[in-house]
Amino acid sequence: MHRAGLGGMGLKIVRFNGGHIGVTDGQKLVDVTDLCGSAQEWPPVAMNRLIRDFDAVKPQLDDALRTGAGLLLASVHLETPVPWPNKLVAFPVNYHDHATEMDSRGLANIQGYFLKANSSLSGAHDPIELPDLPGREIHHECELAVIIGKEGRQILAENAMDYVFGYACLLDITIRGKEERVMRKSYDSFTPVGPWIVTADEVPDPADIEMRLWVGDALRQAANTRDLIVNIPEMIAITSSASTLYPGDIIATGTPAGVGLIRDGDVVTIEIANVGRMAVPVVAGQRGHNIVFDKPYAFQRATQ
Ligand code: MN
Repeated sequence: MHRAGLGGMGLKIVRFNGGHIGVTDGQKLVDVTDLCGSAQEWPPVAMNRLIRDFDAVKPQLDDALRTGAGLLLASVHLETPVPWPNKLVAFPVNYHDHATEMDSRGLANIQGYFLKANSSLSGAHDPIELPDLPGREIHHECELAVIIGKEGRQILAENAMDYVFGYACLLDITIRGKEERVMRKSYDSFTPVGPWIVTADEVPDPADIEMRLWVGDALRQAANTRDLIVNIPEMIAITSSASTLYPGDIIATGTPAGVGLIRDGDVVTIEIANVGRMAVPVVAGQRGHNIVFDKPYAFQRATQ
C-alpha cells in the first residue's frame, strides 16, 4: 500500500510490457522508464541502472507514484524485474528439512553456491515451459530472491544487509538427475522472479520471512528464513568473497522441504510475506531434447 507523505517508505518496482520500468502500490502503476533508460535498449539494463542510482532517484519515484496518472497494475504483462543481472547466484540445500528429503550431505555451508543461466529468468506472467524430456521429473523449488543494491567485494556478514536492495519471489525450477546442475536448472523460464522487487525497507526482519508454495490448491512448501542453514548475510559474505557483487545481482536463497513434480496445466503459486505473491502457469514445450537427457531416468538422491 502507498503511504503518502510519510517519506522513506519502501517501493515496489516492476518491469512490464516490453522492458518498461514502473513503480506500483499494488494497484496503480506509474511508468518511470525515462528516469533510468529506455524500454528498447539492449542489453536491457534499465533496472540495474535504477538500482545503482536508487538513492538519487527515489524522490522522483515517490513523486511519480503519488501524482502520476498511471495504469492499472492488473492490466499489464509483468516481466522479470532484472533480466540482465551480472550474476544469478543460487544456494543448494540450505534448509535441513530439504537435505533430509533429498538424503543430501551437500549442505550450502559445505558446498557453497552455484550459478544459473541469466537467460533462465522469466516473469510473473510468463509460463514455465517444460522441456520435452519424456520420463524426466521436473520439480518446483520455492525460494526468496535477494536483490543486490551496490557493488562490493569481500563483504563482511555484519555489513552485508547494507548491500541488499530488495527482495522478490523466485522459483528455482529443476530437472532431477545426476547431470550437471547448471544444465538441469538453466532452461529458459526455469527461474521465474517477481511479481516485483520490494525494497528492503518493506521487510521488517529478513531473518523471519514466511514463504509458501502451492501447486493448484495443494500446499507443497512452507518455510521461514529463520531456518536457513546459511543466512542472508552469510550468503552475501560467501558470494562476495569470490566475486564482486553488482547492482541487480540476484541470490536464490535455497528451498525448504516439499519439492515436487510440476506438469502441463499446473499453476504454481508462491507467496512470501511482505514481498509478494505470483501464480505462474506451467505449459508443455516442444523443445529441450538433447543427447544428455536421452537415457533412462534414474532419480539420484544425494544430488539436487
Ligand atoms: Mn534451489
